[in-house]
Amino acid sequence: MSYRFDILTLFPALFDGLRQESLIGKALETQIIALELHNWRRFATDRHSTVDDAPFGGGAGLVLKPDPLVKCLREVVPPGSRKILLSPSGRPFNQKLAHEWSQLSGITLICGRYEGFDQRIESHVDEVISIGDFVLNGGEVAAMAVVEAVARLLPGVIGNAESLTEESFADGLLEYPQYTRPRDFEGQTVPDVLLSGNHAEIAKWRLAQRVARTRAMRPDLPKD
Ligand code: SAM
Repeated sequence: MSYRFDILTLFPALFDGLRQESLIGKALETQIIALELHNWRRFATDRHSTVDDAPFGGGAGLVLKPDPLVKCLREVVPPGSRKILLSPSGRPFNQKLAHEWSQLSGITLICGRYEGFDQRIESHVDEVISIGDFVLNGGEVAAMAVVEAVARLLPGVIGNAESLTEESFADGLLEYPQYTRPRDFEGQTVPDVLLSGNHAEIAKWRLAQRVARTRAMRPDLPKD
């Protein structure tokens, strides 16, 4: 059975490119994954299909109303799917969560817009997740990032599964520097050890590079 992504969005057409191209396109074609898009505007009951309204207490912008969104969640989410609200105020998304979610039967990603969600929507989801300390116009790009990170961990999505175990974050370290041809690019040469054919030395060099790079770039990463 396919791993199922359900996406609640007011702008489903933004996902057209993701659905058609590259590894995600292929995973959809081979039915390793399914990607269901739900525009919750159709659950609005008034004449204008309103999904947002002015904030109580005043302030700029418009807030997403709870009723059409929660109605949509109740009708479209399959049992077992983890419901994830995308918000800059959420818990940070990371590779560990991507691994955890790849073990499920599917996830539901809820994309906000405007000033974000009415607070009461949070009690209808399992997690609130941010993809980083910056503010996007909407949750769609965040949802695509999560879809890619989870999908590439599913069996059959990436051609060479070995590459997954050597990637950044797989064991709390960033990846080592990579080089390909030419050996000399504008005076910058490939480290000799990579041309030595000595696999033990190469492995030792790569590990040392990973540790140094992680220390320099991401001292905040847990050392497990
Ligand atoms: N007023 C909100 C705030 O200050 O936190 C920002 C709302 S943002 C313009 C609209 C929507 O984009 C959010 O509801 C969320 O779904 C999505 N979004 C923006 N930045 C995000 C991030 N870093 N991670 C996840 N979702 C994000």
